Amino acid sequence: MIDQFDIVVIGSGIAGLTTALAAAPKRVALITRGALSRDGSSRWAQGGIAAAIGADDTPLLHAQDTLVAGQYLNDRSAVDRLTSVAPQTVRWLAAIGAQFDTRENARHEKRFVLGREAAHSRARIVHAGGDASGAEIMRALAKAVGDAGHITVFEQSQASDLLTAHERICGAAVRGPQGDFAIAAAAVVLATGGIGALYRYTTNPSTADGSGIALALRAGAVLSDMEFVQFHPTALAPLSGHSGQLPLLTEALRGAGAILINAGGRRFMLAHSPAAELAPRDVVARAVWAELERGGQVFLDARKAVGAAFPQRFPTVFAACQVRGIDPREQPIPVVPAEHYLMGGVRVDVHAASSLPGLYAVGECACSGVHGANRLASNSLLEGLVFGRELGVHLARGNVSTASHIAEFTPRNIEPATQERAQKIGDVLWRNAGLVRDATGLFSAREQLAALLHDCAEAAQDADRIRVAQSIVDAALARRDSIGAHYRRDAVAANTAASG
Ligand SMILES: Cc1cc2nc3c(=O)[nH]c(=O)nc-3n(C[C@H](O)[C@H](O)[C@H](O)COP(=O)(O)OP(=O)(O)OC[C@H]3O[C@@H](n4cnc5c(N)ncnc54)[C@H](O)[C@@H]3O)c2cc1C
Repeated sequence: MIDQFDIVVIGSGIAGLTTALAAAPKRVALITRGALSRDGSSRWAQGGIAAAIGADDTPLLHAQDTLVAGQYLNDRSAVDRLTSVAPQTVRWLAAIGAQFDTRENARHEKRFVLGREAAHSRARIVHAGGDASGAEIMRALAKAVGDAGHITVFEQSQASDLLTAHERICGAAVRGPQGDFAIAAAAVVLATGGIGALYRYTTNPSTADGSGIALALRAGAVLSDMEFVQFHPTALAPLSGHSGQLPLLTEALRGAGAILINAGGRRFMLAHSPAAELAPRDVVARAVWAELERGGQVFLDARKAVGAAFPQRFPTVFAACQVRGIDPREQPIPVVPAEHYLMGGVRVDVHAASSLPGLYAVGECACSGVHGANRLASNSLLEGLVFGRELGVHLARGNVSTASHIAEFTPRNIEPATQERAQKIGDVLWRNAGLVRDATGLFSAREQLAALLHDCAEAAQDADRIRVAQSIVDAALARRDSIGAHYRRDAVAANTAASG
């Protein structure tokens, strides 16, 4: 069966839903692997959205912080576009129903409560439900999508291939609950999120396995900045032998005064940076990694700083600790670093267009250049919103007019990923293309991935995962200096400035 639409959006995170909404009145098919808005990273976001809303703040200051975090490898014009419309974008979200945390001022006017995060020079993080920002934002966006007449949602449906005709991407092959079908469209938008599930430990859900990036790679699209992978320093340590998605312990805990200690109860961050626990995210993550590499354990101790107020101030983290039988009011919380965010992805231009005509990318799977070598905290939900809206409007304004007609298509017979290979890929990347890299480890990773690929069927999802993993390793080998989130212990450090 072949359906005809104007636009296919693959992925129902913040970037996919925003693009689909903004593309009205074009007819949009929205494909998502699981349940609409609930199957990607977006709903897990805790901190919130960065926007220069405070009286002491400006988009220029926000842009400067973004450039410092990105070590000036950012695309300056993308940064300016992102930061200049951030305040109005947050107001748009509030207008469609997102309930952000607010308080009344002396004149009884409601004002956003603004949080401050590492490497932001001002308090500018708009949040919801304390640390439940992503869930609230996605609830509001999903409701808007449900009310929109121009969007048809295909849940439990996975894009398995991109279709090509006349040297253009003209649709997607999809495997849904009823079998394989195709959607022909003049524009195909990848909004498939990150790659965390490729690593042994990640804060991302299992859908973040780089499948959209793999589709783009298979079709011949250019990727960029794949060496820039951000690790969060504090994920809740897993029980022994467990891998995959780990609960995030938000940076706001360290902002509130929680400290990092080792198994001997010694605070170790002061030896790494005068800013201690509030040092840039990659500095803290590497310090935690070093403690663990010495065979120790690391804990986040919030007993003094947060104590009895933990359940009210950090309800999401408190619930995750409880599941593990930990009471953070009385016990330090065991932590490990975990893959958190990919700065690179499918290279796109100012209109989110990839190097292949007809193929667009937005959100975490795209590399718009906005983050440079490291993402400033809370800029990624914003990126999905701002560039998603821009892309939707661009496509709606007649930049797509007629959907291509496809007479037939051959479904790709995808074999599901295997647990055993996923674990091997995760271990290879974690050890050799993780927080600390060197040429020996990266060459070894290259060999191990080639051997794994050799044993895979061409159409297997494992092969897709391995190709994305290879693109990370190759990019990390090519960049010999240390910059931003990319740290080579065999390089003379070029830069160690702040990151988000
Ligand atoms: C725990 C956590 C906390 C975070 N906190 C913050 C924060 O406070 N502020 C901030 O700015 N950022 C935060 N981030 C990062 C941010 O949440 C993500 O970068 C952002 O949500 C990515 O949005 P997205 O729309 O690009 O992708 P996602 O939300 O990951 O959505 C991807 C979608 O693509 C679908 N998909 C993937 N492959 C296919 C396929 N082949 N076929 C069909 N569908 C497919 C998935 O099912 C999913 O629907 C956090 C991330 C995590 C994990």
